Amino acid sequence: MILIKTAEEIELLRASNLLVSRTLAEVGKAIKPGVNTLKLDKIAEEYLRDHGGIPGFLGYNGFPATLCTSRNDEVVHGIPSARELKDGDILSVDCGVKLHGYFGDSAYTFPVGEPSEDYRSLMVQTRESLFKGIEVAVAGNRLGDIGYAIQSHAEKAGYSVVREMVGHGLGKNLHEEPEVPNYGRRGSGIKLKEGMVICIEPMINMGTRFIEQDKDGWTIRTTDRKPSAHYELAVAITKGEADVLSTFEYIEN
Ligand code: MG
Ligand code: MG
Repeated sequence: MILIKTAEEIELLRASNLLVSRTLAEVGKAIKPGVNTLKLDKIAEEYLRDHGGIPGFLGYNGFPATLCTSRNDEVVHGIPSARELKDGDILSVDCGVKLHGYFGDSAYTFPVGEPSEDYRSLMVQTRESLFKGIEVAVAGNRLGDIGYAIQSHAEKAGYSVVREMVGHGLGKNLHEEPEVPNYGRRGSGIKLKEGMVICIEPMINMGTRFIEQDKDGWTIRTTDRKPSAHYELAVAITKGEADVLSTFEYIEN
């Protein structure tokens, strides 16, 4: 069942998602060669709790941390560790929070030092594909329109789209219906309705689209070990332009 949110619920979701956005910016300030992802996880957990939030991922299906930190060929669900980041890495940081009963969920891929031109291009095109998806996330359009917009942008740039992992509805639960694939056919899937809140989160690979899971039971990585990028924003569907509830502004400005 897809839950339609009231205007009041959307404001609560905006507060949760903006807290995640600010947390990602705090984490971003600390990202540099030599830092490990356990340190980043500590920064995020403290910031969330200091602002009245409860880490949304910690303990979710047994996940052991506040952040998912996924480096280079890791696509998503990487577990923070003592391993140091290196100059030239790219790091997807995914963060969730529960605040006043509603979840925020957003992700950003950060450069560590100076990544190579081809890594930077993957980041830029993945970020752009997210905004192509948001552009068509309008009441009356269909879910497949979002997937099509993301997929066609990513594939035009020569990249591939992860199929097994998808975006999702967001509300009192971290993952609600519907699933929001990053690939699809125009005009297919359920119709978007005013008051739906969804997370759009393309995971775009430089090489093959195929992925596998590490023995840790969490980390998803590309089978060809080429890099992957991941960006996520939460949006509320309206009759016009989507109301974007999280933002990259705190990170980028
Ligand atoms: Mg998500
Ligand atoms: Mg997320």
